[in-house]
Amino acid sequence: MPTSLLLQNGTILAPNPDDSNDVIPLREHSLLVEGSMITRIGPHAEVQPPSPDTKVIDCSGKIVSPGFIDTHHHMWQTQLKGRHADQSLIEYMPSGNMQGGNYTAEDIFWGQLGGCLSSIDAGTTTVVDHAHMSYSAAHIENAVSATISSGIRSVFGFTPITRVKSWDPPFTMDDDLFPPWLFETFDKLAQQAPFGDGRVQLGFAMDLWFLPKEIILNIFDRINKAGVKTVTAHYLHGIYNFNGTPLPDILASYNLLGPQILLSHATLATPAAAHQLTSTGTFVSSTPETELQMGHGLPVCFRDDLKSQCSLGIDCHSNNSSDMMTQMRLALQAERSRRNQIKLDKGEIPLLKIEGTVKDVFRLATMQGARAVKMEKEIGSLEVGKRGDVVVFEGRSTGMVCAAAQDPVAAIVLHASVGDVGTVVVDGVVRKREGRLVEVAVEEGIGGSGKGRRVVGWEDVAGELVRSRREIEERVKGIDWEKALDAFLGLYKNVRDG
Ligand SMILES: [Zn+2]
Repeated sequence: MPTSLLLQNGTILAPNPDDSNDVIPLREHSLLVEGSMITRIGPHAEVQPPSPDTKVIDCSGKIVSPGFIDTHHHMWQTQLKGRHADQSLIEYMPSGNMQGGNYTAEDIFWGQLGGCLSSIDAGTTTVVDHAHMSYSAAHIENAVSATISSGIRSVFGFTPITRVKSWDPPFTMDDDLFPPWLFETFDKLAQQAPFGDGRVQLGFAMDLWFLPKEIILNIFDRINKAGVKTVTAHYLHGIYNFNGTPLPDILASYNLLGPQILLSHATLATPAAAHQLTSTGTFVSSTPETELQMGHGLPVCFRDDLKSQCSLGIDCHSNNSSDMMTQMRLALQAERSRRNQIKLDKGEIPLLKIEGTVKDVFRLATMQGARAVKMEKEIGSLEVGKRGDVVVFEGRSTGMVCAAAQDPVAAIVLHASVGDVGTVVVDGVVRKREGRLVEVAVEEGIGGSGKGRRVVGWEDVAGELVRSRREIEERVKGIDWEKALDAFLGLYKNVRDG
């Protein structure tokens, strides 16, 4: 008999049978998960534990929500938290994006595990990981191993990158973009995937669009043979626009646009580019917190010509929060501000109904994310036959009291914090309970001080992260960040201008 878990007598956010874009609160209902699947949702009095071994969690007064789906995140960067407080994208490139080489493979393990656990802690059950830290086979394998260990559901985006060869002047990049170990590692992972009872699938992340067409098409041939369902790429201004051609045009000319592609940001998409993306079923991830800070432009997730293909992501938890509640809130309020300002600028008073509702943004963080990873039949909503990816929010905390009773979706979007996430279930396994992360089993074969330790709690992970951060800071102490930035901008200009 499979393990079973009964989330009893809560307010369940279930799809509206009359409108698949909507969720409705089923009050005093229970939800049963058997094995990894949701097998029953019904009125509290009608759903009994199927066996004496069923684990029962009392959800009275609480909100039972689908787990959030974060469609753009660099999970390895935990040790860099706090570095980028006042940085734009350009400054973040050397100090964040390109730091994988200043991590050892063991640093990657703890950074990745810390990133995954922070997401679970915040109610995220699925993430698309743009894993741009490919400095060695061990870096990549440790990142995969940490992802498996954490318990999160992930599309692990294997990422060929441009690697820094020397931070000492003259700052140089490694000319060898495809050392033999890179695709040997990809092939090895492709043979073994999926990992962790199917939770962790192999995806691909790609930003090397300046390469010749044949090389790019060869890569796509290889990853398609490996069964990769999702390929993600940064789509924004400047440094990700190497040869002056907008990314959708490059993808269109290579016949690559379509549901396999998930573009992050798309903040400067013209109406024509938006049409290219929507008409081909290409997906977009808006990451409001980094976009608003780093100079990407306003989030596009409410744009009429793009919203049908949009979802939400975190991007850099080194820069900002790891929680999707914050992303929903920022996306919604930034859009309301933009629309209100148009009226104010015309001398009008924005009294009429606001377009873009809490339910719209909640959908972006759940069902739209599921669509972006082609898993809408498995995750993204609480329905019988879907995976048991479930989050239970407190209803009577200082933040949630009354809001949870009045409008549970509004409570989550506008009032909830990470502390209000009481229980998190991924694939039927409880990963957070009574507000605390559950210990995780660390895979064997991880080097350094984690070696031989089989089970770790958050306190252990935090200790390793603090130590690892200190060691990384020691390693980068001699870097002149101003000079590195200048050198980076020089190299970028060369690539952009051919
Ligand atoms: Zn990113």
